[in-house]
Amino acid sequence: MESGRWETGIANPQMLKTGLIVAIGISIHNFPEGLVVSASYTHLPKLGFLVATMICLHNIPEGIATATPLTVAGVSKRRALTIAFLSGMTEPIGALVGSWFLLTMGGSTYIIGMGLGLAAGVITYITVDELIPVAHEFCTASSKHYISTGLLAGMIFGQLLSVVFNV
Ligand SMILES: [Zn+2]
Repeated sequence: MESGRWETGIANPQMLKTGLIVAIGISIHNFPEGLVVSASYTHLPKLGFLVATMICLHNIPEGIATATPLTVAGVSKRRALTIAFLSGMTEPIGALVGSWFLLTMGGSTYIIGMGLGLAAGVITYITVDELIPVAHEFCTASSKHYISTGLLAGMIFGQLLSVVFNV
């Protein structure tokens, strides 16, 4: 149901709002994710590859989480895909800004440390403040433990990857 206007074809305005909030939240947190890739690569290339792989893989469910509420709301698949794509584009921008900044500053260790700390802080904040609460909005009371299951599965997966990458 492609159309030139947002209003046309929106079956569920509340779901549209949720989808847009998720898209904005993901756009914001993708920026420090890009930063963390450049900072960790500057610190240790092997760590950079590990972080890039993890971030790459977790972007798949993020893209699904952005596009699904939008298509449920009645947004066309093409437009939902465009929004998910654009929200992902803040990540290479973050990586470029981070690389430029680190190159300008000569990659000194305290700048890398601060960059990694800053990115970790922003990502943790968005996780606690946005992603987990939004996840609870999608789950019924009886299925809410699946959120923690997903969270733990993600952590275990991350740990397995760091063993594989030997970081
Ligand atoms: Zn992310």
